[in-house]
Amino acid sequence: MDAGWFTEGERVAVLTAQPLDRLLDYRAPEGGCAAGAFVEVPLGPRRVMGVVWGPGQGGFDAAKLRSVARVLDAPPMREEMRLFLMRAADYTLTPLSMMLRLATRAPGLGENPATRRVYRAGAQAPDRVTDARRRVLEVLGDHGGLGFTLGELSAMAGVTTSVVKGLVVQGAVIEEAAPRDLPYPHLDPDLPGATLSPDQASAARALRAGVASGDYGTTLLKGVTGSGKTEVYLEAVAECLARGRQALVLLPEIALTAGFLARVEDRFGARPAEWHSGITVTERRRVWRMVGEGGAQLVVGARSALFLPFQDLGLIVVDEEHDTSYKQEDGVLYNARDMAVLRASILGAQVVLASATPSLETWVNAEAGKYARLDLPGRFGVAELPEMRAIDMRAETLPPERWISPTLERAVAARMQAGEQSLLFLNRRGYAPVTVCRACGHQIGCDHCDARMVEHRFLKRLVCHQCGETKPMPAACPSCGVEGKLAPVGPGVERLAEEVAKVFPTARVAVLSSDHFGSARALKEQIEAIAAGAADIIIGTQLVAKGHNFPLLTLVGVIDADLGLQGSDLRAAERTFQTMRQVAGRAGRAERPGLALLQTCQPDHPVIRAILSGDEEGFWRAEAEERRAAGMPPFGRMAGIVLSSPDVQAVFDFGAALARADGPLRAIGAQVFGPAAAPIARIRGRHRVRLLVKAEKGAPLQAAVARWVGQVKPPHDLRLSIDIDPQSFL
Ligand code: ADP
Ligand code: ZN
Repeated sequence: MDAGWFTEGERVAVLTAQPLDRLLDYRAPEGGCAAGAFVEVPLGPRRVMGVVWGPGQGGFDAAKLRSVARVLDAPPMREEMRLFLMRAADYTLTPLSMMLRLATRAPGLGENPATRRVYRAGAQAPDRVTDARRRVLEVLGDHGGLGFTLGELSAMAGVTTSVVKGLVVQGAVIEEAAPRDLPYPHLDPDLPGATLSPDQASAARALRAGVASGDYGTTLLKGVTGSGKTEVYLEAVAECLARGRQALVLLPEIALTAGFLARVEDRFGARPAEWHSGITVTERRRVWRMVGEGGAQLVVGARSALFLPFQDLGLIVVDEEHDTSYKQEDGVLYNARDMAVLRASILGAQVVLASATPSLETWVNAEAGKYARLDLPGRFGVAELPEMRAIDMRAETLPPERWISPTLERAVAARMQAGEQSLLFLNRRGYAPVTVCRACGHQIGCDHCDARMVEHRFLKRLVCHQCGETKPMPAACPSCGVEGKLAPVGPGVERLAEEVAKVFPTARVAVLSSDHFGSARALKEQIEAIAAGAADIIIGTQLVAKGHNFPLLTLVGVIDADLGLQGSDLRAAERTFQTMRQVAGRAGRAERPGLALLQTCQPDHPVIRAILSGDEEGFWRAEAEERRAAGMPPFGRMAGIVLSSPDVQAVFDFGAALARADGPLRAIGAQVFGPAAAPIARIRGRHRVRLLVKAEKGAPLQAAVARWVGQVKPPHDLRLSIDIDPQSFL
């Protein structure tokens, strides 16, 4: 891309995170600067952060050219990273400045590191050596060379902070100031891992070989929940660390990381760096810097960890690769799974996509040989997935306002008798999805969105799940004014909990829904308590579908297996299939066999039949065939355009103008559909209109879309967003 060094006064092009769609020319500062250097440049009256992107572009009056104000104290952005950001920007049709913002989400990048207190082994022996004290001293003896923060040390030793402070008083531990951004504790890849089963061992060998090759490659690691995928990919991480390269493990949800960090610690002797929305600002800065300086060997994080400035990244694991949370749905619309593959291909790194129920895209790529595929057959320690059966709701007799069929009720009662746990799965937060007036039929909606308000009794509010707006439950109907006639319709998890309390008055019940937890920690504690046996019946939303281990759980009841099959989403079948398999996978993870019962009104629906029969490959083949026939992704390409504006007329007019100007799309054989009101036609007071572009697989979609929307200038106050490979059609 460029020569690498600019001497003082030379013209350089600087990318800033300001909303400009071009690079700005400056003169290199005194002492020169490297390509990729993080710098501060004057922009109008301000100084802003930027990155030296390459040689200046010229065309600007040399006499007026200003100089870079200073070079920041951070390793320059690597060429590989600049290339990644440019390709990602091109792929997602995002301005480069926004990509830079994603890549610099750490405060105080340019400041000199301040200091903080760390703890190291001291010379004195403590007066009394308790168990807790011994653990602290052992941790310091084993890997305490650089010192730990109070939090790290007490967590690693499993003691309270007062134990450490007691040792400080005695001189057995020294407290001192150290630069703030400390390297992370060393992870030891040579510690012994679990003894792998033959299937695990051969998968681990293949992944290790990939990492050892130093080349790019993507592997689908497929196996049911509990088959030991994590154990296997940690072997690939070990290989990567042993070769002195860095590794990144992406996880879909914060809730997952707590247990995961403990597993990494078991395997490698220390905790990795963490990156997600729950970490502090200081920690964020430390991760960003240490990743760049090589002081973090392994990062476990959410999707945006992909944009960290790794020094030498050799492996990216995307766990639960099919998870929808990998797609960022606001700001930069990117799919972290696809961007991981892009970044790895630039770097010469390996990608492992782990899943029990891969996305159709990944399944097809594996079939086509673009990705390697490794299958872990059984579940570790147990024979197979739980038995799955349908409960035909048409043949069950239920009193009104009840959702647990007599058949399911008997099954739960039997588990309680046996001292085992049952999970009732309903993917609906709150008390009731709809509140209707029995006098006039009015349904309470959100004032700002075209969405019904959901009653949440736990929060004592009505909540809009689109925009988050809440209001108290009115006493009278807002439409006809009649009092006392508002009634809940349909169940949410809170209402289901009420039913459970009636049907099983002696049961200990736990509700796992995101509303009920103030923090990731509270959720984690609840999950641990449940795993230890603190509940007989667990009622849960999507939140329980993945990752957690409940050894006593032997029955899963899906309250409404048809829920996901409604709606026009292209991926409805795929999602239902994934969720149901995943939820069923919660049952019988230890020695006890599990059973999953799916309440459905359409037991003959092809998706329900595929779930019950366990014929996964059959399901994917059929689903792939349907998509191929319809020219839908991954056999065709799509781009979604969402226009929004407070002015409903303006947004439709602009949509129509855009649709008429489809020359650039026709030039590549693409078609545009719409404008049409979006399924959620109004969010936060903005009217929403969608257009959908469909093209053939090999067509240069992004370039055509860019030319197309570039022709017409949107009116003031109209927002246009482009979603390449849309996942959501709302
Ligand atoms: P997955 O990632 O496929 O859901 P995990 O790797 O989490 O599966 O394994 C499921 C459970 O089995 C975990 O508790 C894990 O510690 C255990 N396990 C997996 N493989 C082994 C092994 N080879 N030896 C001992 N325990 C194992
Ligand atoms: Zn709303």
